[in-house]
Amino acid sequence: MFWINNFILGDAMHEPNCITTIKLYLRRTLVRLRPYSAIMKKLLLFAITCCIVIFSLAQSDKYVLLKPAKVFDGETMHEGWVVLIKNNKIDQAGAMNFKLPPGTQVVELAGETLLPGLIEGHSHLFLHPYNETSWNDQVLKESRAERTARAVEHARATLMAGFTTVRDLGTEGSMYDDVGLKIAIEKGVIPGPRMICATRAIVAKGTYGPKSESPDVVLPQGAAEVTNISEMENEVRAQISKGADLIKIYADYRWGKNGEALPAFTTQEIAAAVAIAKSGGREVVTHATTAEGMTRAINAGVSTVEHGDNGTAEVFKLMKEKGVALCPTLAAGDAIEQYKGWRKARLNDTVGQGIDPEPERVTNKKKTFQLALKAGVTICMGGDVGVFTHGDNAREMEMMVEYGMKAIEVLKSATSINADVFGYGNEIGRIKKDLFADVIVVEGDPVADIRNIRKVKFVMKDGVIYRNDK
Ligand SMILES: [Zn+2]
Repeated sequence: MFWINNFILGDAMHEPNCITTIKLYLRRTLVRLRPYSAIMKKLLLFAITCCIVIFSLAQSDKYVLLKPAKVFDGETMHEGWVVLIKNNKIDQAGAMNFKLPPGTQVVELAGETLLPGLIEGHSHLFLHPYNETSWNDQVLKESRAERTARAVEHARATLMAGFTTVRDLGTEGSMYDDVGLKIAIEKGVIPGPRMICATRAIVAKGTYGPKSESPDVVLPQGAAEVTNISEMENEVRAQISKGADLIKIYADYRWGKNGEALPAFTTQEIAAAVAIAKSGGREVVTHATTAEGMTRAINAGVSTVEHGDNGTAEVFKLMKEKGVALCPTLAAGDAIEQYKGWRKARLNDTVGQGIDPEPERVTNKKKTFQLALKAGVTICMGGDVGVFTHGDNAREMEMMVEYGMKAIEVLKSATSINADVFGYGNEIGRIKKDLFADVIVVEGDPVADIRNIRKVKFVMKDGVIYRNDK
């Protein structure tokens, strides 16, 4: 039965062998059937032919034609375009001037906009909002089983919200469970986005959390601690061996005498990690909120800076020169301030009607984000989702517009720019022939109003339709 199994599975490598084997099998069957009656022979041959036809049909290409009002291809918006999907790849994108293959499934999407599957640039699928459970309690009191169960639900919510890829930047105490989650998604055990995994993240010993109130009590940490270059190199190699697609380093953290953020690693220590990671074909990304921490990381060769809260015009100039992108995570600070009690103004609200003035942290974040835009720094879309609800990823996109970015630029950040910066531009992030069929459709036009990005009607990942609200 070995050959039949290969044939059913549609293993292209075995196809020529299969056909030869079928011919041989038919010939042998005819010889064996010689003693039997002519009717029996015909019946058996008919049954065998039916089986072959069924196998062939199972192997044939599957086509889906999507007909939306507009197509955002990852860079610009088009009208009058259709998109043809062949199996798990994009086969055609443009005007309908090609012959439709027989048996194509046609999906009418009048009044809707088709986009590449969105890419979340900064997620933590193993965290849930801090107003539900504090970060400390998640790391110290929730079991790995509970955290994984939550992550499964978070993965599903993310995909259904139109985010077909996540760059997951640290399990925060859940070891290498992101790699296991990614494998389960790839095997089709659970629905979820493509995952680019950082595994544990790397911190300087004694700088991270949870922090112990007593020096005599050693608490488990939310990331891997290292103390010198040798340990840094060892940790990078260990994380790669466990399945890390990238390395995340905390260039600074809140370990100052008064709990203020200060640089935690030297430029040389970060550069050592970059050298090893690059040898292994991985990028290093850095958490950095201080100007000095950002500068050290940029000079050490990281690919993205996460947060960048206190970046100056000089720092952003350096980022532009060195081609380092900023993932601003606007939504995280906004969420944390609201958890602390800030009553944020909604549309048409004014201060004084149960509404508080903007906290300093938020005003400062707006200012630095605008400095980065002015300097021409490449901006990724990543909200630090996990601090806020998974599936609410669009919150960051709305805030990018609120803080001064054009909607079309935000859409680029969430698709082609994230794909290019993360090193996956030849696979995802655009509506372009031969890229993976990761496609979403939203109601209305998200360039006219970015809030339309939440009105997801259709989600396809790798050619499989996960959502179709018809
Ligand atoms: Zn984060």
